[in-house]
Amino acid sequence: MNKADKIWLDGKLVNWDDAKVHVLTHALHYGVGVFEGIRAYKTSDGRSAVFRLREHLQRLYDSAHVVLMEIPYPIERLQEACIETLKVNRQPEGYIRPLAFYGYGNLGVGAVNPVQVTIATWPWGAYLSEEGLKKGIRAKVSSFTRMHVNVNMVRAKISGQYVNSFLANREAVMSGYDEAILLDTEGYVAEGSGENLYIVKNGTLFTPSLSSPVLAGITRDSVLKIAKDQGVPIVEQKFTRDTMYLADELFMTGTAAELTPVREVDNRRVGSGQPGPVTKKLQETFFRTVHGEEQRYREWLTYY
Ligand code: PMP
Repeated sequence: MNKADKIWLDGKLVNWDDAKVHVLTHALHYGVGVFEGIRAYKTSDGRSAVFRLREHLQRLYDSAHVVLMEIPYPIERLQEACIETLKVNRQPEGYIRPLAFYGYGNLGVGAVNPVQVTIATWPWGAYLSEEGLKKGIRAKVSSFTRMHVNVNMVRAKISGQYVNSFLANREAVMSGYDEAILLDTEGYVAEGSGENLYIVKNGTLFTPSLSSPVLAGITRDSVLKIAKDQGVPIVEQKFTRDTMYLADELFMTGTAAELTPVREVDNRRVGSGQPGPVTKKLQETFFRTVHGEEQRYREWLTYY
C-alpha cells in the first residue's frame, strides 16, 4: 500500500508506523467496528475537495448507532480530522478511511470496551483498474450469498460483515474474474463485494431498491441524482440474474470503484461488450462532478 506520513489515532496525529493497537483489541476478534471509505480529488480550479464528506461521516455515526457504539467525538471533530490528516500528509487526492472500533479491555463477546477512532489517508488509484474504468470489467455471480436483512445490518458499514465480501471477492479473483456479484437469499441480484449494481435496458436504469440487502451507497445516491437530472428513467426493484445477462448495459458504483462498467458477467457479453451510452454519460458526469466541474453538484464537495 502507499504509505503516508501520519495517521489520526484517538485525537492525535501519529507516525504511520506507530498507529498500532493491542492484539487483544475486541474488534480484531469479533469485527465490531464501523468504517467509511471516502475519496478526495483535485478539482479543475487547482484546489482539492472531499466528495460527500458529511454524508460519509453521517453514515459512520449511523453505523455506530446500529451497533450500539458511541463515537466519543462530535461529527464536526471527525470532519476536521479528515481534512487535517489529508493536509498533514500533503495529499491533494486520495482515499480516506475512518474506523471506529471497540478497543482493549475485556474479551467477552458482549464486552463494551473503550471506543477507539482512527483516520488514515493514502493515495489510491482506480480500485478495479484504469482499464476496467475505460473498457469494463468481467464479473462472476458468487457462490456466496448476500446475507439476509435479518442477519446483516444492511444500513450499516460494519467491519465483521466484510468477511462475506472478502470470500466473494477472493473467489471471483482466484477464478480469473475482476469482481463478484452477490445474489440475495431469494436469488435476486444484490450488489458487488463493495459496490452497488445497475443495469440499463431499453434506456431505463434499474438497481435493487434499498429494501434489498445492499448498502445505501453514497455513490449510488449521487449517480441516481445525476441520472434523474439527465432524464434517465429509474426503477428501483429486484431483478434476476438472467436479466443481467440480457441487459444492454451493466455497471457498478462505489467510492473505491467509482463508476465501473461491467462488460461481461458469467462469461456472457453484456450488450455490445463495450461500456454503453448511458453508462458512459453517467461516468463522465460523475468524474466531472468529483473534479468540481459540475456547478449544480458543488454542494457535494468540501474544499481544503
Ligand atoms: N456496497 C458495499 C457492500 C460496499 O462496501 C460499498 C462501498 N462502501 C458500496 C456498496 C458502495 O458504497 P459507497 O458508494 O457509499 O462507497
